[in-house]
Amino acid sequence: MLIYALTKRKVPAGGLPHDIKALVLNVSTVRFISKYLETGMPLIRRRVTLDGSALAIQCNVNVPMGALIPDVIQLAGGLAEEPAKVIMGGSMMGVALDRIDLGIIKMNNAILALEKKEARIPRESQCIRCGRCVTSCPMELLPTTLDNLTRSRDIEGLAVHHVNDCIECGCCTYVCPAKRHLVQSLRTGKALLRMENDKKRRKAEMDATQEAAAKARAASPSSKTGSKQEATDA
Ligand code: SF4
Ligand code: SF4
Repeated sequence: MLIYALTKRKVPAGGLPHDIKALVLNVSTVRFISKYLETGMPLIRRRVTLDGSALAIQCNVNVPMGALIPDVIQLAGGLAEEPAKVIMGGSMMGVALDRIDLGIIKMNNAILALEKKEARIPRESQCIRCGRCVTSCPMELLPTTLDNLTRSRDIEGLAVHHVNDCIECGCCTYVCPAKRHLVQSLRTGKALLRMENDKKRRKAEMDATQEAAAKARAASPSSKTGSKQEATDA
């Protein structure tokens, strides 16, 4: 999205920004590179945003890598109440944690601690075909079609409709009036396609190994001697 907004260049389907000679770095990374070039100091600290209604204070903190999440929360003022869900990352693309005794790593930019009401997962209802998910998708995908293809395990259809181009931004889920769990479904769709591709790759590798072994057997001197012997005996 940023690349297109700034340069009007589009990353090709299945490609990466460097395919169109672009590189996207966040502010923290750029600051780190500048500091590293000046001092040679590797990345040992990370700026982390702490947010969510379960926290006593919402703020940014600068903590050493490896600091445990409960310690970081405590440093920022502790909990206002027991969180119903803790998310590592932002509200759109973050991942819910099943345990929080984990250390901060270089990818962590936010920790969200949500109280019960905020953490509630809305119940899905039927798609009313309003098209809001389609118009909101920055990758020009058809989220509702991809959702249906995932639910029906149509892996070929998922590939045809470019499920791998989904950047999991969550816009489609956010705007959906029927509260469809679109981004979650699309993540599953991408995983299904990945498993299928892995299966095909493993099969191709196995076939190639068997073919090479068969060729080696046919070309080996013992197999030729055996053939000559068989001819003499005949
Ligand atoms: S936004 Fe929701 S209800 Fe509207 S078309 Fe998409 S999935 Fe269906
Ligand atoms: S999560 Fe994927 S499908 Fe949904 S709006 Fe973002 S890029 Fe499009």
